[in-house]
Amino acid sequence: MWPNARGSKRGCARVFPMKQLGIYVQAPFCQTKCTYCNFHTGVVAKERFAPYVEAVCREIRRHQELLRGAGVMYESGEWPFGCAQGKRVGSGERSEDRFAVDTAYFGGGTPSLLETGDLRKILDAIRGSFATEFAEVTLEADPETVEEEKAAAWVSAGINRVSFGVQSFSDKELAAVGRMHRREDIYRAVPMLRAAGIRNISFDLIAGLPHQTKESWERSLEELIALGPEHVSVYLLEVDEGSRLGKELLRGGGRYSAGAVPSEDEMAGFYEIAQGALRAAGYRHYEISNWAKPGFESKHNLKYWRREPYLGFGAGAHSFSGTQRWANVHDAAEYVKSIENGRLPVEQLEEVTAERALEEELFLGLRQLAGIDVGKIEREYGVALARRFEPLASAGLVEREGNVVRLAEEKLSVSNEVFVELMR
Ligand code: SF4
Repeated sequence: MWPNARGSKRGCARVFPMKQLGIYVQAPFCQTKCTYCNFHTGVVAKERFAPYVEAVCREIRRHQELLRGAGVMYESGEWPFGCAQGKRVGSGERSEDRFAVDTAYFGGGTPSLLETGDLRKILDAIRGSFATEFAEVTLEADPETVEEEKAAAWVSAGINRVSFGVQSFSDKELAAVGRMHRREDIYRAVPMLRAAGIRNISFDLIAGLPHQTKESWERSLEELIALGPEHVSVYLLEVDEGSRLGKELLRGGGRYSAGAVPSEDEMAGFYEIAQGALRAAGYRHYEISNWAKPGFESKHNLKYWRREPYLGFGAGAHSFSGTQRWANVHDAAEYVKSIENGRLPVEQLEEVTAERALEEELFLGLRQLAGIDVGKIEREYGVALARRFEPLASAGLVEREGNVVRLAEEKLSVSNEVFVELMR
């Protein structure tokens, strides 16, 4: 175990100069289950939404008491995130020591399935329980769920960014994995969002869907670029036991179009094609899976990679205080029942040791293309890192410029090898 700069073996108590807090709200409901999905989401009757939303609002309003009851403690003994109920930043009553919520993110699942009144209720609960100065409020949405009125109501509730699960512009690929939307839904939804006043749209694409070819991938990228989203995320298909398609691939079966999934080499090639196409279209590659037009990097997601604090509400939501990480139970029914009984079902509550914090600094820091300041990390954690990077630099996997180490851009598709090597 490496001691941190203060000689303590406990988690490194970071000092956050901006005093800003992100809030994540989980909506674990979907209309159907995509074959590649390894998230804890369920297909439930709409009647289950309202009690869930009530529970989330209650968790937000009573977060201090519920978290203390679940064993979450802040190292100094003082809760850093709360504010006097209902007091907003700018009211002149906020202490300099308090955190202000500047980002909120509705993820899932498919949070765009929730009634707009429910989304507003949750945002109002946040405004009533924390100091807020929202810069970015994101809603994950599936294209087929967008309607004109809904989009206008989202904007009036305070949502200013929509993250679309586009995945592909090929109907054959979308149908093969059980997506609910088709290519034309994307073309229908984007103008509705623009007309409602959403100036920040993000598209997700997945490299490695069944039936995907180099040509269909290039076409999806071309169509995406022509629609001009401000932000793009490109993910590689995850093959693990958590999804039906993943399981089928691991056992070598052919169900769920598993036989039509591109090889790992092809997927790596698709990623490199995306790098070139997005760069040429003016997007800046700022994180392994993320590109943005200048100024449109995801403020909320940057907090995860920069190890800044965030609180998660809802079933399966994760939180990080700087010294502890914890997560709520995944099962939505169990979550609602516990909140109704005045108890928060927290699982995986763990203190972030200095060793773990350092690993996170390296792993999360290197995901960002700006790289990490090795000198700063060495000073903060009292460790020498130069030798660890030497073999990686010799192999051309990382580049060093003064104190900054970053992944080599042409090696990003094999970044996992770097992380495995680094964590040895
Ligand atoms: S819409 Fe997203 S969260 Fe829902 S099943 Fe599909 S991949 Fe999973």
